[in-house]
Amino acid sequence: MMSEMIREDGRKYNELRPIKIEAGVLERADGSAYLEVGGNKILVAVYGPRESYIRRLLEPNTGVIRCRYNMAPFSVDDRKRPGPDRRSSEISKITADALRPALMLENYPRSMVDIYIEVIEAEGGTRCAGITAASVALVDAGIPMKDIVVGCAAGKVNDEVVLDLSEVEDKEGQADVPIAMMPRTGEITLLQSDGDLSQEEFEKAIDLAMEGCRKVNEIQKEALMKKYSAEMSD
Ligand code: UDP
Repeated sequence: MMSEMIREDGRKYNELRPIKIEAGVLERADGSAYLEVGGNKILVAVYGPRESYIRRLLEPNTGVIRCRYNMAPFSVDDRKRPGPDRRSSEISKITADALRPALMLENYPRSMVDIYIEVIEAEGGTRCAGITAASVALVDAGIPMKDIVVGCAAGKVNDEVVLDLSEVEDKEGQADVPIAMMPRTGEITLLQSDGDLSQEEFEKAIDLAMEGCRKVNEIQKEALMKKYSAEMSD
C-alpha cells in the first residue's frame, strides 16, 4: 500500500523532512528569517518598503518587489560558481511572483521591497524553502500582507507520488512539482512541473503539496508567535 511505502530516508509518502523556522535573526535587516528543512539551511533578509533608489524600477502607482535568490559556493557538493546564473535568476523571478500577490504594494507607490534569499546549504527543495522563509521575513519586517505565502513540493519517486523531495529523490526521481500557496484562500501563486506525470499523478501531487503547505504554514505561524510573544513579555 502506498501509505506504507518507506522512502530512502525512512519517511512516509506524505511526510515532510524535519523543519524549523526562526523569525527575526538579523539585526540590520528590517525583517529576517532562518529556516532549516532536511539538509537545507536558508537565511532571508528583507528591506522596505523604502524609497526606490533605482529610478528605472520606480512605479508611480504601486510599490515594487525585488528578490535575489543566491546559493553560497559551499552550499552544494560541487563548489557552486559564485554569482548569478540561469537557475538562480529563474528562482529569483518565480519567488517574487509567488510572494507579490500577498503584498498590498498598491499602498506603497514609488517604493521598493527587497528580499535577499541566501542558501547556505542545499539539499533539494530550496525554491520552496526560500519562499516559505521569505514570507516569514516579510511579516517580521512589518509589511502588511493578505496571507503568509508558503512553498512545498511533491513529486514522483519509484512510481509513487511523494511529498517534499530530498536532493537524492529530486535527482533520481521522475518528477518534481513545487508549488506556493496562500493557505487562507488556497490560491496557488507558484506552480512548476519538471518531469513526467500522468494527469492523475499531477493532481495527486498538487493535493499532496497543498497538504504539505498547510503543515509548513503552522510552523511559520509558530515561529512568528514565538518571536512576538517573547517581545511582548519583555
Ligand atoms: N543543486 C546542486 N547544485 C546546483 C543547483 C542545485 O547541487 O548548482 C542541488 C541542490 O541541493 C538543490 C537540488 O539540487 O536543492 C535541486 O535543485 P533544483 O534546481 O530542482 O531546485 P530546488 O529543488 O532546490 O528548488
